[in-house]
Amino acid sequence: ATPPRTVLVTGAAGFIGANFVRYWRDRHPDDPVVAVDALTYAGNEENLAAVREDIVFAHADIADGPRMAEILREHRVNVVVNFAAESHNSLAVLDPARFFRTNVLGTQQLLEASRQAGIERFHHVSTCEVYGDLALDATEAFHEDSPYRPRTPYNASKAGADHAVRAYHETYGLPVTLTNCANNYGPYQFPEKVLPLFVTNALRGKQLPVYASRHHRREWIHVDDHCRAIDAVLSGGVPGRTYHVGTAKEASVQEIADLVLDELGLPASLQTTVADRPGHDRRYLLDSSRIERELGWRPTVPFEEGMRETIRWYRDHPQWWKPLLDRRPVAEESVWQEGG
Ligand code: NAD
Repeated sequence: ATPPRTVLVTGAAGFIGANFVRYWRDRHPDDPVVAVDALTYAGNEENLAAVREDIVFAHADIADGPRMAEILREHRVNVVVNFAAESHNSLAVLDPARFFRTNVLGTQQLLEASRQAGIERFHHVSTCEVYGDLALDATEAFHEDSPYRPRTPYNASKAGADHAVRAYHETYGLPVTLTNCANNYGPYQFPEKVLPLFVTNALRGKQLPVYASRHHRREWIHVDDHCRAIDAVLSGGVPGRTYHVGTAKEASVQEIADLVLDELGLPASLQTTVADRPGHDRRYLLDSSRIERELGWRPTVPFEEGMRETIRWYRDHPQWWKPLLDRRPVAEESVWQEGG
């Protein structure tokens, strides 16, 4: 067993960050956890309610280098896991500057503070979207050495962050690892993203806005499997190395809409076609054989079961999502709802 390490989790009040903090408390109860979040519209301290007594929470911005340095020093942090980001593709089309500020400059400030603090590991959480898109009939998936070809402001800002993380490894020897993960689903996802948006619309008798490109596909992974993958990389991953995290399970926006309506017992007519987001990627698919081969990680949650359970979670927790609807920065009518 590894000795206790103090783990700093940024973006801890967001969807994946909060799931990760709960996961870590459960799996590594001896590790002190410091949760950092700027509490943007997407950050919600409620997401950490179940573990709030067991962790330290700091309301802070990763782009504030001196503050990050102070937190790292004060809590003698060993490991940083960086989830903090602006994550909504549709918002990035309307307001790209905030994406480059947090995702690129914020990550660099956190890297610099981590370098000065001499931490043991900096793990950076990234996305399949940095590689650009794949043709619907492509037979090859993206692997860890595929060229970066981001096509949207969100993707470009995540790509910039990844480059900064690698540069800190090459230039300063900071012990970094990276994961690029497929589309996550699970509880506590902000209701601007496709699955909670569809469920919460359906439950309110509103239409599900399905893109004209309804057959564009995404690779889906349950957030718990993503958390387990990061755990595997933190314990066995090689500094400087990147690991893809996917399931090879693809589903179209249309299939997600159908699944939501089926699980809730609602008619297929509760769907409307909306225009595509500019620069909308057709498809992403990761080759995740490295993490399987080197670290023995495998996805465990079957797609349909996990999706249906998640749909029921939103159905059963209206008190969680109802207050968030008014916080959405992109008007529902102009929503291009996907992201992550
Ligand atoms: P999210 O939007 O739900 O959470 C992001 C969190 O970061 C929020 O709590 C927000 O308040 C916080 N934050 C934003 N700017 C900050 C700043 N400057 N300083 C500190 N905190 C700040 O997003 P998510 O879906 O949980 O994504 C988390 C990470 O995982 C992101 O880096 C994202 O790119 C990556 N990722 C997401 C997916 C997905 O499908 N959701 C897939 C692959 C990778």
